[in-house]
Amino acid sequence: MARIMERIVWHTAAHGRNGQAFDTTAAQIDQWHRERGWSEIGYNVVIRFDGTIEQGRDPRKIPAAVAGINATTYHTCFSGHGDIAPLTPQQLESSIQHTIDLLRQYGLVERFLSEPEGLIGMGHREVNELVRRGLAPTPTTKTCPGRLVDMEQVRMLIRQRLQTAPVPHAVYEAQAAGELCDWCTRQQRSCNCPTR
Ligand SMILES: [Zn+2]
Repeated sequence: MARIMERIVWHTAAHGRNGQAFDTTAAQIDQWHRERGWSEIGYNVVIRFDGTIEQGRDPRKIPAAVAGINATTYHTCFSGHGDIAPLTPQQLESSIQHTIDLLRQYGLVERFLSEPEGLIGMGHREVNELVRRGLAPTPTTKTCPGRLVDMEQVRMLIRQRLQTAPVPHAVYEAQAAGELCDWCTRQQRSCNCPTR
């Protein structure tokens, strides 16, 4: 059954030593998480230094990444260590585009744009803000996606991209043919929602 997704959460692999960050693979994280006794990697994707997106846990399954809100969230993990080095330009570009694709897929574009303080796209560390608002049960000491990643700036970049992005061609055609409901038109996604 499809999950109702409320947030896209960014993490760091926190993989580095002596001031150097490592280009962690999804297979490596999968091994770490199995060593903890988990069934498999807890994140849905891992984004490498060159921007490659490696699949983690199937997003239809509940991830294991932020206690208390896993059931309604999607989790992106960056290779490297966000306290030691910022995201590479390729990681940033890849993750912004991936997050935009997810916001469209899960029908979150409108909320992302209309609720700037809503943390629809957030860093793991920002769960403490959700706890303060009574929207999550468990605070964290994690810095994810790392102290060197400015989530306000990330959200601004995503917002700019969403506001200037052309409507995808397939959505435009479906809309012209009268096959798209108003809601899906605003979300810029193909329509298979229950309001049709
Ligand atoms: Zn994290």
